[in-house]
Amino acid sequence: MKSLVILFFILLKTCASTPQDTGMKFNPLTIDEQRVILHKGTERPYTGKWLDNKKSGTYVCRQCNQPLYRSEDKFDSHCGWPSFDDEIPGAVKRVPDADGHRTEIVCSNCGGHLGHVFEGEGFTGKNTRHCVNSISMDFLPTMEKAYFASGCFWGTEYHFMKAKGVKATTVGYMGGHTHAPTYKEVCTGTTGHVETVEVEYDPSVTSFEEMLKLYYETHDFEQVGGQGPDIGPQYQSVVFYKNDEQKAMVEKYMQLLSRKGFKVATELRPAPEFWAAEDYHQEYYDKKNGTPYCHVYRKIF
Ligand SMILES: [Zn+2]
Repeated sequence: MKSLVILFFILLKTCASTPQDTGMKFNPLTIDEQRVILHKGTERPYTGKWLDNKKSGTYVCRQCNQPLYRSEDKFDSHCGWPSFDDEIPGAVKRVPDADGHRTEIVCSNCGGHLGHVFEGEGFTGKNTRHCVNSISMDFLPTMEKAYFASGCFWGTEYHFMKAKGVKATTVGYMGGHTHAPTYKEVCTGTTGHVETVEVEYDPSVTSFEEMLKLYYETHDFEQVGGQGPDIGPQYQSVVFYKNDEQKAMVEKYMQLLSRKGFKVATELRPAPEFWAAEDYHQEYYDKKNGTPYCHVYRKIF
């Protein structure tokens, strides 16, 4: 009798171990999404929203948000569905398809249907094609970073954190010769660091160019060796560029401003390590419910 009771509980547990009962929270699915993800349907070829997506980012499971594929592994197979030659390790489970010859792929976390995987077709060096329904995935674009110094970083951050497409801002120090500097050290003006704001933005919503325009429109970029009443090398106007595209864009705007008659004092320097400032400096004006004294927006472009 005892063994029967145990057997009963084992059976109960086995039957109950569907994804919905494991405590995981899933996104609600539309009827069309359910047809593919839960009932292993297939979206019509050349209709999925991620087929021609060339942006840099991560494809995640529509049902459970698990990261599945990276944009670097996506390629154009001309088969009508998004194709990848590799998955994020451990994200995708291969199972024999009910049709007896293909290999089905499902999300390893929630079991949601993704599509099928084919090997030996020779599309890429990896010789593998994950043929995935767009509807089974969401896409998270990679955030990009830019580094702007325009005097007291409280004021610089104040404008950037409110800008469209900006996901995060951090105030900190850049460009000096000491390791992990403190505010007190930077204030002496002897460490070589400049008060800088790290801006993290969504390139599918805004751009480095938009960030750069806001930068020039929110400080006096003609002032040398300081900003407003804040004097010292730590308050110098500097753009720290991360790549050649950013560098070229800054040069373009420097020329454009010169043609408008401005004497641009902004320095253009390659981005070294960024050191985040102490917590109490982060989002300072929002914490204090104040507005900057030396960073006032003026339209130029
Ligand atoms: Zn999933």
